[in-house]
Amino acid sequence: LKWPRAPPPRAWNGTGSTPHFSEIVLGRCFTYTQLLRPELGHADCGQIGKAFMNAFLSKDPCHSSEQDYQLLLKLTNQTIPCHSSVFWSKSSQLAHLYTTVQQDMFTLEDTLIGYIADGLNWCGDAGSNEMNYQSCPHWRKDCINNPVSVFWDTVSKRFAENACGVVQVVLNGSISNTFDKNSTFGRVEIHNLHPGKVSVLKAWVMHDIGGVYSYHTCSSPIIDDLKLILSKRNIPFTCEDDYRPIKFLQCVKSPEDSSCRK
Ligand code: NAD
Repeated sequence: LKWPRAPPPRAWNGTGSTPHFSEIVLGRCFTYTQLLRPELGHADCGQIGKAFMNAFLSKDPCHSSEQDYQLLLKLTNQTIPCHSSVFWSKSSQLAHLYTTVQQDMFTLEDTLIGYIADGLNWCGDAGSNEMNYQSCPHWRKDCINNPVSVFWDTVSKRFAENACGVVQVVLNGSISNTFDKNSTFGRVEIHNLHPGKVSVLKAWVMHDIGGVYSYHTCSSPIIDDLKLILSKRNIPFTCEDDYRPIKFLQCVKSPEDSSCRK
């Protein structure tokens, strides 16, 4: 007599869950709350880890919802001081270098929830209480409402809603879609900034050193698209090309470049 075996998890087109996901989540939570930001030392990493797993385990990974993450959001609530939020789009590395040097500035990944999840992959399956380490839905090829995409949309929305004072965004001027309406920044974050709370959004359009061609600068029409969305929302906007504090970070790697010598 054979026991019926659980059916194998469905094969998706995206990378499977990160090996040791729950251990990494727990470890990052303790690193952040005990070592990096002891002011969050009261956070309950055990509960946070459980809430994260319960958000997607035993659920259809194409029907993830904001609601699934509500308890996790509540447990990772964090106040970011005004004038210190930094958004980014297509400029992950440079934006994070900037906030690493400028410790009083925060990208989403410098907050507890973003720090825990950055770079990880996760999904479960409706027919099992295990994670799927084989494959997860790809956001373009399989479904948009997968656990990872819904998570980033949900936490990005909260990060933007909570931003106040002068806020910044680091944009990549060396690619064609310097401002992308379909990116998380263009689709979620700018639409969730509060006009009464945010005094100005300052955009820094950065160009790769030694890049042969600058696609866009602050004078490009693509930046007007961003300007227009913000003016309709009554949020003042400024733009500066190659903002010096960030340019210096690029120059650390290329000190001999002519643009770094003057
Ligand atoms: P981006 O286009 O550079 O994308 C950032 C990362 O998110 C990339 O790895 C991209 O592949 C992935 N991504 C984007 N949209 C996705 C989706 N719908 N499903 C799955 N993965 C997706 O920049 P962006 O989209 O403007 O996002 C950056 C902004 O949004 C930041 O301001 C940050 O606050 C937040 N964010 C962070 C992450 C992260 O991985 N740390 C992901 C999404 C959003």
